Amino acid sequence: YLAKEARTGVELYQPDKDRNSPERLNLLGDLRRAIDNHELRLHYQPKVSLGTGAVQGMEALLRWHHPTHGPIAPSEFVPLAEQSYLMRQLTAYVIEAALEQAAHWWHTGLRAQISVNISARDLLDSALPEQLEVGLAKYGLPPAAIQLEVTERILTGDQAYTQETIKALSTLGVPLALDDFGTGYSSLIRLQGLAVSEVKIDASFVRRIAESEGDDRIVRSIVDLVRSLGLRSVAEGVESDEVAMRLAEMGCDMGQGWLFGQPMPATEATTWLRDHFGTDAKIEYEYPAEV
Ligand code: C2E
Ligand code: MG
Ligand code: MG
Ligand code: MG
Repeated sequence: YLAKEARTGVELYQPDKDRNSPERLNLLGDLRRAIDNHELRLHYQPKVSLGTGAVQGMEALLRWHHPTHGPIAPSEFVPLAEQSYLMRQLTAYVIEAALEQAAHWWHTGLRAQISVNISARDLLDSALPEQLEVGLAKYGLPPAAIQLEVTERILTGDQAYTQETIKALSTLGVPLALDDFGTGYSSLIRLQGLAVSEVKIDASFVRRIAESEGDDRIVRSIVDLVRSLGLRSVAEGVESDEVAMRLAEMGCDMGQGWLFGQPMPATEATTWLRDHFGTDAKIEYEYPAEV
């Protein structure tokens, strides 16, 4: 989201695009150290019901403040990690941090589900459901306190292994969302057999709703399809009232974007949750009576 950065005047460090450039390899080394040294932080962005305005949860988004390069966008370092052995370590770190935050919120009455982004490749790792199960137990959280977001690339990837992990997650009760929907090439039909509970419509369509008939129709048909499969739709990149209203009118369930709130550091996100929802944060899952 370079446009946003340009607007705020923050210049982002962009490493050489050449995959094996010394610069990128250096950055990978830095990232490994950053995980160990806790230079990485999660910010949280609210996800809101378009019908009622109730908070549904918060998406955890990674932020890296590099000691010499300054802020580096996840669109720069996540793909770098994805091409290396570091991805599992990065995801493990994010899950642990998110669970810790979820425990903090849940045990003070702010029952906002935290969505964690994972890489499609993380689903090839059978240790993932186990890490979640152990983590949830450690913090005394129900499985729906957390959700995993994964791009629709899982629909085209290594099906057999991926399906096994997805099955284990669904047995555990941790919900799965399909992120950036519409940007890939996957057949919509394949959505059907997949154990996802939520589909996030990519911001590139959503943002242009107000201007373009074509994008309006695309989003409308995705919303209809998602509903007919019994899943929830979430629009990403909602920046204006007009777009939010059009989405609500189409029957889109949730919205996320600057209109509702920017990604915020944990302390700010806590204040935001308290201000907007007190102790009545509503989420659309059935929780065990006692947590
Ligand atoms: P995403 O999961 O699709 O996250 C949504 C992105 O849209 C975030 O960018 C968010 O800051 C941005 N955004 C939110 N509202 C608006 C809006 O109203 N307008 C615009 N223009 N943008 C908005 P961010 O934080 O730079 O993250 C980019 C991507 O990096 C994420 O896309 C996700 O794929 C990846 N990512 C971020 N954190 C993690 C992580 O912890 N693990 C993994 N594997 N990937 C991550
Ligand atoms: Mg996401
Ligand atoms: Mg997305
Ligand atoms: Mg994205």
